Amino acid sequence: MINRLIIRCDNYSHGCIEGVKLEYYDVHEKQCDYLPLKCMNTGCEVTVLRKDMLAHEKECHFRLVVCRKGCGFPVAADQEQNHSCVAVLKSNMEGMEAMFNKKYKSLSESFSKLQQKVESLQTKLHLHQSSAASRDSANDDRSSYSTGAATPVPDSYGEDEHNSQRTPDSFESP
Ligand SMILES: [Zn+2]
Ligand SMILES: [Zn+2]
Ligand SMILES: [Zn+2]
Repeated sequence: MINRLIIRCDNYSHGCIEGVKLEYYDVHEKQCDYLPLKCMNTGCEVTVLRKDMLAHEKECHFRLVVCRKGCGFPVAADQEQNHSCVAVLKSNMEGMEAMFNKKYKSLSESFSKLQQKVESLQTKLHLHQSSAASRDSANDDRSSYSTGAATPVPDSYGEDEHNSQRTPDSFESP
């Protein structure tokens, strides 16, 4: 029952005289033509009702247009005739130069970090190689010994297996 209530829109004072059913209020609020909206263009402080926004955007002094005088950069509409293309180009160049310098700085920083990593890896590798070389010479003595000792083991193990098959009998018989 309560949802059938018809209430007055918040934007009544701006001209929305439509009565809104409570159940549709959320929907209406989102699309009410009389909702005041601030212009999105940078520098523009104008607030207009939603229904007038399209008209305002077409004539807003701060809307961006592509300069037809020469620089081809987007400029605020009321600046198109007065601005200096050279100044726009210069500031764009400076912006690009600053961006380039920043990129270059971070690139050279990561490059020197990489270089440090490579150097420390080289040092580690060198240490590893020299210690491995001393270990290899020690291994040579042991490996000749261990292979000589390891070979007989499978044979004697096979013999043990044959023996163990006989042992249960010898355990049970007494
Ligand atoms: Zn409304
Ligand atoms: Zn505007
Ligand atoms: Zn220009």
